Amino acid sequence: MSETKSRSVLLICTGGTITMSVDPGTGSLTPFRFDQLYKQIPELNKFDFNIDFVQFNPLLDSSEVGPKEWISMAETIYHAYGNYDGFVVLHGTDTMAYTASALSFMLEHLQKPVILTGSQLPIGMIRTDGKENLITAIEIAAAKEYGSALVPEVCIFFENTLWRGNRTTKKNAELFNAFGSYNYAALATAGVHIRYNRTVIHHERGERELILHRALDTNIAILKLFPGISEAYVEAVFNTPGLRAVVLESFGAGNAPSSQWLIDLLKKATDHGIVIVNVTQCNTGSVEMGRYKTSVHLHDAGVISGYDITTETAVTKLMFLLGHYQDSETICKEMGRSFCGEMTVE
Ligand code: ASP
Repeated sequence: MSETKSRSVLLICTGGTITMSVDPGTGSLTPFRFDQLYKQIPELNKFDFNIDFVQFNPLLDSSEVGPKEWISMAETIYHAYGNYDGFVVLHGTDTMAYTASALSFMLEHLQKPVILTGSQLPIGMIRTDGKENLITAIEIAAAKEYGSALVPEVCIFFENTLWRGNRTTKKNAELFNAFGSYNYAALATAGVHIRYNRTVIHHERGERELILHRALDTNIAILKLFPGISEAYVEAVFNTPGLRAVVLESFGAGNAPSSQWLIDLLKKATDHGIVIVNVTQCNTGSVEMGRYKTSVHLHDAGVISGYDITTETAVTKLMFLLGHYQDSETICKEMGRSFCGEMTVE
């Protein structure tokens, strides 16, 4: 840490638009000089806390971010955990929801804020949304009440809203409000004041040590149903070598065609220990297997409900569970419980 002030925040710069600047000579995008952070964003001097930073080298477009990078982010947080009050992760928006979801499972018993943010316009551009996002994310990462972190969760802060990270989806590639959380309320809203929605913020009970989980298994597929989907296509998905789990994106409240070939393929897969999680293609609402006849056969074929989980979170939760357990029965059981508020089990 550089100096002793009242609080300290570690900035982890992974890449994305927010870490870009515009070269005044050529007009092309170049990496932002985070070593000159205070010079470039003098507003940060007004905070009464230290801001240190670490940077991925090279900085990555978030399309290049995956399990290897999640592990390195989680390790950075784990090793620096005792020295900082909170963490801000600067990240591209494209896969930010996946990273936030993964970190929420990899950092068990988290009691400090991990706030991911990014921007739609590079931080070095006049109209950038990056400065506001960064400044507010830092403020939230350092926010405390009665000596404890106000938001001890992995979150995404974007435009003016703080969301639980594992509830978010990137919804907009153009406007500044790039994220939505369709099945869970905002944890805070930043206007003139930052208003925290205390009743929906998750707090770990008691003093518990942070546990770092590195084991992830990527033998997963996403199978999105569509009217007219062919047997050959579904069969090809289930024939993926090494496949251990499938996120089945179904219609509405968890429905699927009742063609015998589909039922047979699903049943054959679950009989072979492949975990199939039913997730709705709708943004809002939950899978309710059995509500319509068109989901009863899914249940009978051994497909389990993902309730109101997002696809991003179903994928990362499965990677996490497959990394920790071998038998599909345990994975199905664990998939059915909420670890850190990622889904509403009813
Ligand atoms: N392609 C960029 C990324 O996700 C977009 C962004 O940063 O918003 O890294």
